[in-house]
Amino acid sequence: MNNGKLCVPVCAATADELIANIKRAEKFADVIEVRFDCLDPNEFDLRGHEWIPVWTKIANATRTDMISTLRPLEQGGYRSLSNDERLTFWNSGCQTDLCDIEDTDLIEQAAWTCGKRIVSHHDFSATAHDLNPHYLRLNTAQAEIIKVAVHVNEVTDAIEVWKLGERAKVGNKEFIPIAMGEAGKWTRILGLAHGAYLTYGSLERGKETADGQIAAKDLIDVYRVKELDKQTKVYGVIGDSVSSSFSPYIHNAAFVAAGINAVFIPLQVKNIDAFFRRMVLPATREVELNFAGFAVTMPHKQSVMKYLDEIDSVGEKIGAVNTIAIDDDKLSGYNTDAHGFITPLKTRLGELNGMRAAVLGAGGAARACVTSLKQEGADVTVFARDERKASSFASKFGCRVNLVSNLKFEISNFDVLVNATPLGMKGEFETISPLTADDLKGVKLVFDLVTRPNDTPLIREAKQAGVATVPGFEMLIEQAIKQFEIWTGRDAPKDVMRAAALSRMENTK
Ligand code: NAP
Repeated sequence: MNNGKLCVPVCAATADELIANIKRAEKFADVIEVRFDCLDPNEFDLRGHEWIPVWTKIANATRTDMISTLRPLEQGGYRSLSNDERLTFWNSGCQTDLCDIEDTDLIEQAAWTCGKRIVSHHDFSATAHDLNPHYLRLNTAQAEIIKVAVHVNEVTDAIEVWKLGERAKVGNKEFIPIAMGEAGKWTRILGLAHGAYLTYGSLERGKETADGQIAAKDLIDVYRVKELDKQTKVYGVIGDSVSSSFSPYIHNAAFVAAGINAVFIPLQVKNIDAFFRRMVLPATREVELNFAGFAVTMPHKQSVMKYLDEIDSVGEKIGAVNTIAIDDDKLSGYNTDAHGFITPLKTRLGELNGMRAAVLGAGGAARACVTSLKQEGADVTVFARDERKASSFASKFGCRVNLVSNLKFEISNFDVLVNATPLGMKGEFETISPLTADDLKGVKLVFDLVTRPNDTPLIREAKQAGVATVPGFEMLIEQAIKQFEIWTGRDAPKDVMRAAALSRMENTK
């Protein structure tokens, strides 16, 4: 448990809508930030006096602590505001518990009447790396709380914002560090555990007032931000696109069910070297976040291997790891994809020895599938479209690889078909099935690794042909169960993990 607060910003064009949003925010918020700059200028015209009753009506709408914010366009606000309009607002004598003002000069000029003052700096350009001048300027302002919110493209760029928190503590100031954007989400989740005054959570998905804002409900229910402390073990998924990952939902539910003080966060990492150097490796890291392990996804499954002290035999054989455990600063790599793939297959088919398996694709997932199929004694043929990749795959994994230009081939000679390509995946390929129901006649089982959606075109064709199916969801769950067991040494709460993933899938359909 920490002392931080969850703040839900609300933004709407009319006072009535704003009040309706305030009422909804009360459910999660310790503090509600009212964005007065969102109001339509006709309803909230700061050049006359009619706006004061509007303000009063809004301010009286809740007993929850309120932050007043009137942010001009150039600071990321929603409305063009002159200096006079801003001064009129702040000098009016209207009181709230907190005020957020972006300009140190304005702070000096305004007759502040709110409980605590937040002086804030926003940068949406993702170019300002040296935040010191801004911090020094903010630090001289007559304000109890300093807020720095900068957009970042790289997970490591958020370190600069994070470090300012340490300086604020020394100077006895409260601090709000926000790295905006997907890569900065870790500051929003871990901030309160490290002494941040508050973190912002959106009213709901789609109502974010800044890039990378996480829904307040998820900050409470999934990430438990107010329960985290510096002892909390931090796990995360590292990949260049992790915003739609199921893993935070699966693993956080598991930690809660097992009563473990741990959290699992999304870490959008593009530059893996900088991430390990500046955030993970004990000799060079610049932040102490108490990392205890990672799930690794594309494109880092191979490139992370050079940072690991040891790799399990499956990971070595496949040439890729998807799981890292950190114990006493020792980094151990594992591959749980192979286990995740073979477990549901054996549950359905039992003995795989001698089974004729066709695997479509020769990428990372195919490596894990082929390794585990061969280990079970299956007769494996890979179908791939790139000659160079196909021949190196064949020599590394000792299996037949057939080149196919459009993945059309005779499948009836096989017992099992595995789709290890993105064909059928939500987005560009979502309507494509590599094979039709007619093609699939005679096949015993189709395993489609694609996780989103659950019911891919290939799965539908297989069902139409009366062929048994395994969706990619099964692999996702089984590999996560194994990850949990590696990280904690305990049996995983399997039903909880499955239910969390299914619920997330339903919510994001
Ligand atoms: P990857 O390393 O990028 O490999 C993809 C493979 O599919 C490559 O062989 C690629 O061929 C081939 N491919 C791509 N687009 C194609 C197209 N339009 N037509 C034919 N072949 C195509 O990706 P991956 O990590 O192996 O992932 C493959 C699939 O498995 C994805 O859908 C992923 O979401 C899924 N997956 C699921 C799980 C799970 O837990 N269920 C785990 C891992 C992966 P080229 O090399 O010629 O481009």
